[in-house]
Amino acid sequence: MYLHGTSKINAKGHLEIGGCDTVELKEQYGTPLYIMDEALIRQRAREYMDAFRQSGLSYQVAYASKAFCTMAMCRLVEEEGMSLDVVSEGELYTALKAGFPAERIHFHGNNKTPAEIQMAISARIGCFVADNFDELHLLNALAAENGVKVNILLRVTPGVEAHTHEYISTGQTDSKFGFDIGNGTAYEAVKTSIALPHLQLLGLHSHIGSQIFEVEGFQVAAERVSGFAVKVKRELDFVFKVINLGGGFGIRYTKEDTPLHASVYVKAITDAVKRNFSGVYDQLPEVWIEPGRSIVGDAGTTLYTVGSSKDIPGVRKYISVDGGMTDNPRPALYDSKYEAMLANRGREAATETVSIAGKCCESGDMLIWDLELPPAKTGDLLAVASTGAYNYSMASNYNRIPRPAVVFVNEGESALVVKRESLNDLIANDVIPQRVGKQHSLKG
Ligand SMILES: *Cc1c(COP(=O)(O)O)cnc(C)c1O
Repeated sequence: MYLHGTSKINAKGHLEIGGCDTVELKEQYGTPLYIMDEALIRQRAREYMDAFRQSGLSYQVAYASKAFCTMAMCRLVEEEGMSLDVVSEGELYTALKAGFPAERIHFHGNNKTPAEIQMAISARIGCFVADNFDELHLLNALAAENGVKVNILLRVTPGVEAHTHEYISTGQTDSKFGFDIGNGTAYEAVKTSIALPHLQLLGLHSHIGSQIFEVEGFQVAAERVSGFAVKVKRELDFVFKVINLGGGFGIRYTKEDTPLHASVYVKAITDAVKRNFSGVYDQLPEVWIEPGRSIVGDAGTTLYTVGSSKDIPGVRKYISVDGGMTDNPRPALYDSKYEAMLANRGREAATETVSIAGKCCESGDMLIWDLELPPAKTGDLLAVASTGAYNYSMASNYNRIPRPAVVFVNEGESALVVKRESLNDLIANDVIPQRVGKQHSLKG
């Protein structure tokens, strides 16, 4: 397994993260356990911030909180000077309760409810990323009711789809998100936004995909967005203050993944904006980006305890752990690949090929197929790397399995940031209506 950030094998042969021995973390917090390498999260944040500082442009780096949203994380994001993207009232509530400055919050989503918009207006968030015409009118109406003007970016689809190692240039983009540039919808949305008196149109937003390892997709998106901005300036004499090119920067899950340094993406994006707007705009627009996965992904490790195993001679050996698709649905959802190691036997040679099964009642609840490991025994600890993004945030209570705890580790200290759910938490919202079970008690 690749050792990210501060991860290393210590003198006892145990995996250590942030100076904390994972065997001791298991004793203190139990398993499954999400372990977040705080220093690595901060390092990733600083890589983006530093790269933008060098560009000389005005900028915001907004952490896409959907990747991993907890109050402690919001605080860390604030400390690092980043902004924050939210997509629901739950994420917004988390950020506000953590004391995150509202003016640095951006609200995304293709179906924001009136209640969510009202909550965000009351909190005076920085901007909405408006997705469709219904939303433009709803935003305008609610802003009017509140006697305010709200800042918006328009989410546009530039006709670029980026996949891991390629980008596809599409004419008409078939997407539930945003206003299409190619078919003129985005142009109509600009005119509508300018005309609606309670909207303040700040700029344009585009997000082309995720787990992207090349800069070309971002460059083409920047070109199309700026080409559109030039047309808007020429025809409507309107200038955008902000160009937001979204997130999607790739991380390393396995050795097949070859992420670029944050500074490479940022330079490609800022150079493209400089190139495309120089001589057209008197003042270059602010550039915003929205990394999620690449801030937290490789900083996360999930620790499991090995339970039963099943050896089917000549076929496969299954090793089961005390979690699975409830704490990491990505392999089942996307066929995502992960690397893992025995955290308590870090120096032993891998002599077996095994497959790691979760404990849910689904054949599809498999975490890793064909993993090289030392012969694993009941009670060993399995560490799965790069689980910091879209694991905790996508966790469920399927099979009524409580969600694991989350700890931040740093310089030999661990701190709980999310408590392990208890069995009582699982039934806390359950209600038994009077009429249910009545017959039984009458008979009794
Ligand atoms: C999901 C998302 C992001 C973050 O994507 P990552 O792949 O986690 O970097 C950024 N912007 C928007 C609009 C998104 O939907």
